[in-house]
This record gives sequence, structure tokens and C-alpha cells, in this order.
Amino acid sequence: MTNRYDRQLKIKQIGTSGQKKFEGSHVLVIGVGGLGSFVSSELVKAGIGEITLLDFDDVELTNLHRQNLYVESDVGTDKLEAIKNHLQQANSNVKINTINKKYSADILSTKYDLVIDCTDNFPVKYQINEDCQKAGIKHIFGTCAANQGQVMFIDQDSACLECLYPKENIAELGLSKNIGTNPMIVAITGSLQASMAFKYLIDPQKISAGTLIVVDNWNFDFRKIHIKKRQNCLGGN
Ligand SMILES: [Zn+2]
Repeated sequence: MTNRYDRQLKIKQIGTSGQKKFEGSHVLVIGVGGLGSFVSSELVKAGIGEITLLDFDDVELTNLHRQNLYVESDVGTDKLEAIKNHLQQANSNVKINTINKKYSADILSTKYDLVIDCTDNFPVKYQINEDCQKAGIKHIFGTCAANQGQVMFIDQDSACLECLYPKENIAELGLSKNIGTNPMIVAITGSLQASMAFKYLIDPQKISAGTLIVVDNWNFDFRKIHIKKRQNCLGGN
């Protein structure tokens, strides 16, 4: 019988044992806008075991250019319902749960192997960062605006969002709503978050936490920057 994952099973770093680990994994994706669309569709198509999606928005017409899973007939409907429907059609093997509410710390649980921050709101990002660090949960930060995307895997021993951008500098960080978003940078950034999740769930020892990846899809720059953990920052170590 044809295995739907045949092509990824042939990757030597994945193979049958890696795929099995991936199929035994459960991730929480916070926000199913642009980044969340790419992250969830890639993880679901690759056969993650279980995925929980959190959001509270409806689909808007201005979402469609960059939030790849939504189609015109979804506009005005509940995002979670729409995305669950699209994802389940893509892969019926995956268990998909939805939580229709704004982010709060009580959502977090160690039943998740990993949390992926796909929100577009910096105050919420700092909250997710702080809560994950305190709860001992690993998470993947991601953001994009204009032509630039940034992604970093964060654990309790690595630099976190506070180490990267101290909260007092928050005003300097661009927001998609104000400065616009190149639709293709969303694909690249989301795909990098999904790639990190895929690698971590298959081979956790090899993930490089605290390394910021910065991509620009207008000048075509791709940089990796090691971020130093600040003394006495969140997480305690
Ligand atoms: Zn920190």
C-alpha cells in the first residue's frame, strides 16, 4: 500500500522512527492567522498526531492575501471552524482540537510537546514567552511585518523574547497592521516555524535554541544570530 508520507520517510534524518515520534506529538498553535495557517497546514499534512488551535477571530477579506488556508467563502465565518474544516480535509488522520478564546496562561499545559506562537500582537507574545518560561514549556517565537520575518526556538536554558527585545523597546517593533505585510514573507516565516517544530519533535537534541533567524524577502538576506541569555531573565536558569 502506498504510504502518504513516502517522500518524507526517505529523508535520512526523518525515516520511519522520526515519523513515528512526530505522529506521537501534540502541539499548541496560538493564533491561526497568517503564520498559523502555514504552521498548521504544514504540520497537519506532514502527519502530526494531534494539534490544538487557539483563536477568536472571524475571517476577513483582508486576510486572504496572506492567510493561505482561507478562501472567499470563509469570509465572515469563524476562523477556527473554517481552518479545522480545511485541515481535516487535507489529512483525516490528525486529531484537531480548537479553543475559541483569547490567549491566557491557563491554556498552557505540559500535555503539549511544544507551543508555537503565531500571534501578531506583541503584548500577547511577551505574555506567552513569560508563561512558557515559567511553566517550563518550550516554544517557537515568530513574527513578520513588511518584508522581514524572525523566528527563534526558545527553551528554559536559551535566550527568550525578553532577552532578544527588552519589553521597554516594544514600540520599535513593527506591526503588520500598520506597516503592511508582504504575503510571501508570511509563508517563509510560518514555514520556518513549522520546520523547527518538525525537527524538534523528531530530534530534540539537535535543535538550536536561542538562535534568531532573520529573513528578508525583498533584499533576500538570510541571517542566523546567536542571542545571549540575559542574567536573571525569565525561566530562572
Ligand atoms: Zn530572557
